[in-house]
Amino acid sequence: MRIALSAPDISQEDIDAVAAVLRTSRLSLGPKLEEFEHAIARYTGAAHAVGVSSGTAGLHLCIRALGIGEGDEVIVPSFAFIAVANAVRYEKALPVFADIEPETLNLDPNRIEAAITSRTKAILVVHTFGCPADLAAILEIARQHHLCVIEDACEAIGAEFDGRKAGGWGDAGVFAFYPNKQITTGEGGMVITENPRIASMVRALRNQGRAETNDWLQHSEVGYNYRLAEMNCALGISQMKRIDAMLARRAEIAGKYHDKLRGIENLRLPALELPRRKLSWFVYVVRLSGTLTQFHRDWIMDEMHRRGIGCGRYFAPIHRQPAYHTACGPRADLRVTEFEAPRCLALPFFNRLQDEQIDEVCENLGELLQLAGSRAMEEPSANSAAGFY
Ligand SMILES: *Cc1c(COP(=O)(O)O)cnc(C)c1O
Repeated sequence: MRIALSAPDISQEDIDAVAAVLRTSRLSLGPKLEEFEHAIARYTGAAHAVGVSSGTAGLHLCIRALGIGEGDEVIVPSFAFIAVANAVRYEKALPVFADIEPETLNLDPNRIEAAITSRTKAILVVHTFGCPADLAAILEIARQHHLCVIEDACEAIGAEFDGRKAGGWGDAGVFAFYPNKQITTGEGGMVITENPRIASMVRALRNQGRAETNDWLQHSEVGYNYRLAEMNCALGISQMKRIDAMLARRAEIAGKYHDKLRGIENLRLPALELPRRKLSWFVYVVRLSGTLTQFHRDWIMDEMHRRGIGCGRYFAPIHRQPAYHTACGPRADLRVTEFEAPRCLALPFFNRLQDEQIDEVCENLGELLQLAGSRAMEEPSANSAAGFY
């Protein structure tokens, strides 16, 4: 692609920080892990931060540390990254999908209670695209029904709800540092919590179940190798030094897209600001509206790709995935998910995106939307039977 969908922002300082670790003899479980954990704890205000090998590993360990297992149910959005449901399935619990709100594309607090049964143990809330879910309402529902709350803040580092960082509201929160995230460690994740029991359980489980007091060959739990190497941590520390500037740059790019795309017919833009929330821009996702559907979205995406412009279909609903046809709880009414997901289109979005590139993306998108809206592009009826997003 001439214009990538996403790209990591790696500085010379980042490169030097990683190289410096390689000149030491500590490549895992060393001082950089501790320093990175402290940096995330300080930034989020969390009492405990535990580095793990990915966001998915972090979600899995939260499920495990909260004692969620076979036969238990966890309420999750279907409009989310597949890892959200996978983490629940790893422990033989069932993801129960609940619908989202059209404005924020996050779990709709009004749709959660209908999904609660006697087997429900937790709500796994995702802060989609860096926009915090309604944490106050969701925590209140959890309190009334004695449920745990896990926050998937993998797309939302730095976001806030009512002035408090996303990830720090629930029993535990998870960040991820894959190269397309706001900050990266290559691969990596972090669990934050106020609960010392959860923190020490996650610490043990990431390292083959070794409790902190155990010696190297004493295992109190059946754990995993979910460790985060020192090179990754050094990159994370270096990236965290620039996080404010990086998030500001992303907000600036979102503003430029907004100005360029505002007023185009059949296009719905993400809100630049929302009440009670500070956004942290992960991706810039527009939605087709009016009479335009998945058919037009897929055609526009193909055409953009042909022109060398990266774009993506964030997200493909989990309940439509072949792996989840039977591996989930009772199917709720997911009409907002069903309507919105096939109309979503993620545009190129990364810190070093240039103004001329933004112009080019917007000009091409505008032209393709106009073509898609014309009568010549009417959807063939056979296509509406397509099963996958
Ligand atoms: C990125 C992401 C994760 C975790 O991804 P990893 O690749 O395992 O680090 C989890 N949930 C959401 C919503 C994500 O976007």
